[in-house]
Amino acid sequence: PQQPDTAVHEARIAGVAVDTRHWIGGRRVASADTFPDVSPIDGSTLARIARGGPAEAEAAVAAAKAAFPGWAATPWAERARILHAIADGVEKRLEELAIVETTDNGALLRSHRRGVMPRVAHNFRFFADWLLTLGHEDFTTHTGGPAAPGHTNHVSRDPAGPCVLITPWNAPLMLATWKVAPALAAGNTVVLKPAEWSPLTASLLADIAAEAGLPPGVLNVVQGHGAEIGDDLTSHPDVRRISFTGSVATARRIAASAARNLTPLSLELGGKSPLLVFADADPELAVDLAVEQFDNAGQVCLAATRLLVEESIADEFTERFVAKVSRLRQGDPREEATDIGPTIHPRQIERIDGFVRRAVASGARVVFGGGSHARLGGLYYRPTLLTDVAQDSEVVQEEVFGPVLTLQTFVDEAEAVHLANDTRFGLAATLATGDHRRAERVTDQLVAGTVWVNCFFVRDLRAPFGGSRLSGVGREGGTWSFDFYCDLKNRVMAP
Ligand code: NAD
Repeated sequence: PQQPDTAVHEARIAGVAVDTRHWIGGRRVASADTFPDVSPIDGSTLARIARGGPAEAEAAVAAAKAAFPGWAATPWAERARILHAIADGVEKRLEELAIVETTDNGALLRSHRRGVMPRVAHNFRFFADWLLTLGHEDFTTHTGGPAAPGHTNHVSRDPAGPCVLITPWNAPLMLATWKVAPALAAGNTVVLKPAEWSPLTASLLADIAAEAGLPPGVLNVVQGHGAEIGDDLTSHPDVRRISFTGSVATARRIAASAARNLTPLSLELGGKSPLLVFADADPELAVDLAVEQFDNAGQVCLAATRLLVEESIADEFTERFVAKVSRLRQGDPREEATDIGPTIHPRQIERIDGFVRRAVASGARVVFGGGSHARLGGLYYRPTLLTDVAQDSEVVQEEVFGPVLTLQTFVDEAEAVHLANDTRFGLAATLATGDHRRAERVTDQLVAGTVWVNCFFVRDLRAPFGGSRLSGVGREGGTWSFDFYCDLKNRVMAP
């Protein structure tokens, strides 16, 4: 990679200095080319970011490969100590991380302060502590079995090697550290490529990790546009794991690229999750759960975007829902009172509005919203509810990834389950019901990685997270993360 000495390599975001270069092998590396990073709050250009390509991909993987033996051999307790030091650094710079993330991706500052950034620190603490609880498994062959008796099988987890981690823009640092923390805890080295629409907090994470004492090359951060740098990362023979969160289309491309070396993949992808509201549900809770789906302006993979409501209560539910949505305040995500901020990029607005317009053209009715906010303009798409949508229509079947919900009704449990499962996705589902037996019965029949009953978005990091069908491959969380980021080894000893 070239080092143009005239370029400015720093952006100032609300007074916070952010280095806009890559972080490779413990030093900052520029690229000859850069790309603009734009804030969705007002469309202003925040920075010019190093635009990585094949040379940066090669350099980053080489750095991760060189650092791997040392980090893999670092005692578990020392690795855990450094991860806790990274968490300390995140907590110390929490306010800076929160304002930079909000400016970069437009999600609410109050959520970054109180929910997201504390979770980022927790990701490191959780996997550091979980590492120390991991045991080994031993099996002794029995007398009378097909194998020679008295042999012991000792099963251990070895770090896999350099990992490529590729993440999206909707919750940049949270989703990145959900991968970085277990990968590092397991003794692997990392090349992280954040999304080009929200590249800034990953750069701050590199600073924090270095200050915490993470050795050079253990965590590398490269910036760039998708395939321009991505293809060389995902097809690299020295990469031993690829973990990706993003869209199905990109996942297909990454899987094809990884196939070259049969590199193991973890894929966390999109969804079209249902919220099933039964007539026996607490009406207020049901409406709250539905309105919560507009969090982050609907740019949440887990969002229950298909409201499936029992016919007998549909009118009352809709009335309450509209009353509550009308009270949501849309505006600048840095303001405490704001409930809904902007959408990440004009291209997403076009996409979202396209879905709504085509749905209306094919008979859907706009109950609420259906366009950009009159005063705030372009990037602020209003929370939108559509009814009279056909089950096989585009807006019911495709992920919109914006503040657009559809409402359909069902007459009985069987129809509810049928509608819920009639999708190519299987990330999550949410039920609102006052009947526990029903909750168990329906959960048993749903195809989804997570089912929430009378709650939403509650995440315990010990539990598996991931999707079925097109929503993903594999599970992360607790021991499942370590199983992915490690190679299992069985040592068989003669008696
Ligand atoms: P995206 O697929 O467009 O991009 C994700 C990342 O992949 C970016 O960093 C991008 O630069 C990179 N990329 C693009 N092409 C690449 C290539 N050929 N090789 C390597 N990397 C490449 O997704 P997005 O628009 O940033 O994110 C939105 C999507 O992510 C939605 O579908 C959403 O549901 C999904 N998502 C899933 C989860 C989950 O946990 N299941 C969480 C958040 C978002």
